[in-house]
Amino acid sequence: MSSKHVIRPDMTVTAYVALGSNLGDSCATVHSAIQELSEKPGLMLVSKSKLFSTKPYQAIGNDYVNAVIALECSLNAVDLLELTQQMEFAYGRERSFVNAPRTLDLDLILFGQAQIQSSWLIVPHPRWTERAFVLKPLHSIAPHLVSDEMLALVRDQEVELLS
Ligand code: AMP
Repeated sequence: MSSKHVIRPDMTVTAYVALGSNLGDSCATVHSAIQELSEKPGLMLVSKSKLFSTKPYQAIGNDYVNAVIALECSLNAVDLLELTQQMEFAYGRERSFVNAPRTLDLDLILFGQAQIQSSWLIVPHPRWTERAFVLKPLHSIAPHLVSDEMLALVRDQEVELLS
């Protein structure tokens, strides 16, 4: 994390981050990324979903491994995004084309009650309600955030709980 990130322990919010991988050892990557995120200054892991296997949706390549975590966050949202992007690059992600297969993809889904619309960060994530690979893991750790109606709208997307 760069030193300009400001940690405000008195101003924490619950942030939900979705993780995905479909290149390399995806289960190991997702486990290790969760561990790494939980050790970053200003972040504390509150809960993590199990891993899910999902067919590529609006993307190509191998099946994905997905998960969602809740973090107690005392960084601001832009700093959290920057930190997740640094991690994506550290794990070797190349943005060769839109929705290209990726070693690690980290999306900021929700940041407390924040509504953010900037050119580099939109929160809530603009497509989170369209994606079963976000809604199902999120529902498993925060059922109050995902209604049955929301799950019904994505029921055609194949998402399987990994044992
Ligand atoms: P992707 O390639 O799907 O990971 O998209 C990454 C791009 O989306 C980056 O340029 C981010 O600045 C932008 N972005 C906008 N809102 C979000 C968000 N809530 N979480 C992650 N990336 C976001």
